[in-house]
Amino acid sequence: MIETQSLNIDKKVCRDCNKNKDINLFHNRQSSKDGKNNICKACKKEIDFIYRKNNKEKIRLMKQKYRKTDRAKRLKKESYYRNIDSIRKKDRIRSKIYREKNRDKTTSYLRNLKRKYRMDLHDTYIKELIVKNSVLSRKEIPQEYIEAKREHLKLKRHLKEII
Ligand SMILES: [Zn+2]
Repeated sequence: MIETQSLNIDKKVCRDCNKNKDINLFHNRQSSKDGKNNICKACKKEIDFIYRKNNKEKIRLMKQKYRKTDRAKRLKKESYYRNIDSIRKKDRIRSKIYREKNRDKTTSYLRNLKRKYRMDLHDTYIKELIVKNSVLSRKEIPQEYIEAKREHLKLKRHLKEII
């Protein structure tokens, strides 16, 4: 006995171009009887293209409206958490590239900032000095200690100027 069933490829006539085409050339559509669209993929693509071209503003507004719905927000959040690892990886790569591209800019910026902190006897600069010669961490340094150190440095600078 010959199995004809497996050799028999289903065909369907497209409502748009009226061609008898292989069933695989139609998109799936659950609501229709045979589970396939009435229009072939090629025609559908063309129709969609023309629709999008003629309704740009309408589509833009629809998308904008959709993004504000709870469903869209939820899906976006879910997708964010699902892809958090790859998103973080991408962010790391992006910031690494940024740093490399702007290395000169960032280092000179930091150098200038540090100089300014030193000139102004800024807390950050004083903390740095204290940490260097102490077992305290930045957070553990009492404010009075910083003030005292600042006065000490002011005095030292003053003496340097007059000698
Ligand atoms: Zn067609």
